[in-house]
Amino acid sequence: MGMQSKVRTAATELVSTRSDCRLCHGNYLTKIWSFGPTPLANAYLTPKQIGQPEPLLPLDVYFCRTCHLVQLKDVVAPELLFANYLYVSSTSPTFVRHFEDYAHYLTERFRLNSTSLVVDIGSNDGVLLKPLQQQGIRVLGIEPAQNIANLANHDGVETVAEFFTPPLARQLANEKGKAAVITANNVFAHTDTIDEFVIAIKNLLAPGGIFVFEVQYLADLLTKNLFDIVYHEHLCYYHIHPLVSFFQRHDMEVFDVQHQPAHGGSVRVFVQRANGPHQKSKRLVDIIETEIGQGLTSIASLQAFASRIHDNRKKLLTILNQLKEQDQRIVGYGAPAKATTLMYALDIGADTVEYIVDDDAKIKQGLLMPGTHIPIVSPARLYEDKPDYCLILAWNFAEPIMSNHHRFTEQGGKFIIPVPEPRIV
Ligand SMILES: [Zn+2]
Repeated sequence: MGMQSKVRTAATELVSTRSDCRLCHGNYLTKIWSFGPTPLANAYLTPKQIGQPEPLLPLDVYFCRTCHLVQLKDVVAPELLFANYLYVSSTSPTFVRHFEDYAHYLTERFRLNSTSLVVDIGSNDGVLLKPLQQQGIRVLGIEPAQNIANLANHDGVETVAEFFTPPLARQLANEKGKAAVITANNVFAHTDTIDEFVIAIKNLLAPGGIFVFEVQYLADLLTKNLFDIVYHEHLCYYHIHPLVSFFQRHDMEVFDVQHQPAHGGSVRVFVQRANGPHQKSKRLVDIIETEIGQGLTSIASLQAFASRIHDNRKKLLTILNQLKEQDQRIVGYGAPAKATTLMYALDIGADTVEYIVDDDAKIKQGLLMPGTHIPIVSPARLYEDKPDYCLILAWNFAEPIMSNHHRFTEQGGKFIIPVPEPRIV
């Protein structure tokens, strides 16, 4: 009982719940689906931290009936989520390549040179700014996670370890001059106070400058069944339609968009001040038409998505329960943040999965999964221990994982792919 009440106290301090839509401030929000109480996806534990109160927080997804933005209403204190982030972008070669291409694209299209300043919000270890700096462009990173900002500064990418706010933006504009380009990748969806974020952008943006951001794309989430990208950090699940009127309200204008189906599926959105120098692209007009055709502006397509998650869960549980009845040993593969959502959504716990192997981020080996406390170990364990089944939690990388570990199948092991159609391979 003591433990229970401690957890509850912690949770109420950690979460605030908003009643209006983050983008249009409308009050008509409908709950689409609920994952139930879920731990923070990045709250990996050290063995010593077991027994300390660990909050389980609501993870409920809403649809705004006014502007159609899909979002969470419960907001976890950002200090808790981002103060000591484990994720370092440059550890993933795919990410590094993606940002090198992005840097070259920006330089060429917007004719950047040694007088241009590019500011990246949520700059991580400087993964986008490094290639820009190598081309002689002035760069500045803003990264609230002190440990990661230190890495960037150490590598020669000047980085401020603060949250991006209107006063900070004014101060930087005074000290460094205004920015020709401001970028924000995979952070626009993390921001609860989007109005303030855009005011800060305007404080720092040079006349004729552009703001470019990348976010995961709702259309891909629905068509590829990527429900495990839903976790407390990701407050919004964007499509383009609601963003157009949002920026208009701030005297800004979306003028182009690029859909990038790779990497799970994201959009790169280009914004300028109203009546800025860039023409609205045909791509922008086309993608909005496509979104309406796909039903992204209707609640029914989201409700259908929710029922696909329920079916997925039922089918997977049937398979796992049968294996457990036959005393088969099951382990997991891959411990990305989204594995926590996956495991809570599909009801996979420590009674099913003995341990999780993960080679992608060695930083996590030796830690325990949030909530379930399943240990994360090196993939070598698959070969020493020879479990019967390996459930691929990083399921969107199932093909490369299985080909890298064909020896596991050769020694008699089998893989289970949990989503979208649970199956044994
Ligand atoms: Zn709205």
